Amino acid sequence: MLTIDEAVKNILETVKPLGSETVGILESYGRIIAEEVRADSDVPFCDNSAMDGFAVIAEDVKAASEEKPVELKILEKIQAGRVAEHKVEKGTAVRIMTGAPIPQGADAVVMVEYTETRDDRAFIKAPVEKGANIRIAGEDVRKGQLLFSHGIRIGPAETGILASAGCAPVKVGRRPVVGILSTGDEIIEPHEPAGIGKVRNSNSYALAALCSSVGASPRYMGIVPDRRNDVEAAFKLAAANCDVILTSGGVSMGDFDLVRTVLEEIGQMFFWKVKVKPGRPLAFGLMTGVPMFGLPGNPVSAMVSFELFVRPALLKMMGARELFRTKTTARMEHEVSDKPARAKIMRGVATRGKDGVTVRTTGHQGSGILMSMLLANCFIIMPEGISLLKKGETVEVIPLDRYPI
Ligand code: AMP
Ligand code: MG
Repeated sequence: MLTIDEAVKNILETVKPLGSETVGILESYGRIIAEEVRADSDVPFCDNSAMDGFAVIAEDVKAASEEKPVELKILEKIQAGRVAEHKVEKGTAVRIMTGAPIPQGADAVVMVEYTETRDDRAFIKAPVEKGANIRIAGEDVRKGQLLFSHGIRIGPAETGILASAGCAPVKVGRRPVVGILSTGDEIIEPHEPAGIGKVRNSNSYALAALCSSVGASPRYMGIVPDRRNDVEAAFKLAAANCDVILTSGGVSMGDFDLVRTVLEEIGQMFFWKVKVKPGRPLAFGLMTGVPMFGLPGNPVSAMVSFELFVRPALLKMMGARELFRTKTTARMEHEVSDKPARAKIMRGVATRGKDGVTVRTTGHQGSGILMSMLLANCFIIMPEGISLLKKGETVEVIPLDRYPI
């Protein structure tokens, strides 16, 4: 049986980056940059006004005050998008709007609030420093500046910078198409009525959402009955159409657990057990060259296994630099004990207080208690060989998306 780290290593040695494609910025959110991105121009392009006001020569208005305004002749009015026709000279000013280029000769902008206008005359009632209210060309981004390199995930701010620096379209890692199959004669779809012996398919939907959250492209391929021929046909179809296959259920020791047998017989299986709780039965291998994860059937086990093993694999396929969530630490709010044989990944609720972060479990840790995933904002790690976490002890945690910051 492999440790978590050994299993992750095996998986990451097997999966390969998928290559890249070029997409528009609107399609780039959540994708991984696959090139060096440099700014194609200065941002802003030229010196421009940060305020609505008057472009002036600072020296002209240095004695200006409320009582003794300085009178200047208004040469013209420029709105954003226009370029001034006149040069500002001693005794003159240009009425300027936010974002308009600074006219030649001017070296400061006086806010309109400190001025009055009569006909073509501006009365400036306050002095300004040279350079005041002017945004300098390139003060945000310089032409040619390296903005991003390979492996960076595109978030909202990255999207804005790509757009403002003219980096469109952008080269990103291809999104893996992830075929998702559930196995089990008892599994029914969410819209079907509950009944004795039936279990609603939650895994396919939770796994599809997890794939989307990583930036991969889930493709739901239905529920497969526990029959050898059906399982084989479903795997072959998935392998022919997807970059990765995720199945759930059918990987443990039951008489109808066919996933492992079929993977072994028509594909290659690298391992099928990991020393972790929940999620011990986890088969991994290649189905006609396509990486396949046989995830456990229990809903919590399936989601935890995704976090530990599938997420880094998908990120690697997309070309990401960071494959793992950054672990952190927290202090236990209560004692927990368990058998030492496997590493335990408990669902935790972390709270940030005056003295740092403390964490408690979500309660019942059964692998069928999907509510524990709903309540959790982190995983508490109880390493292999450890059977007790004491109250007040500092433990390692894996923050999930709702972790308190
Ligand atoms: P198995 O490994 O196939 O025996 O499945 C273990 C447990 O997980 C059983 O109680 C199944 O009913 C349950 N299970 C399997 N697949 C799903 C699924 N897609 N959604 C929810 N529960 C499932
Ligand atoms: Mg089953």
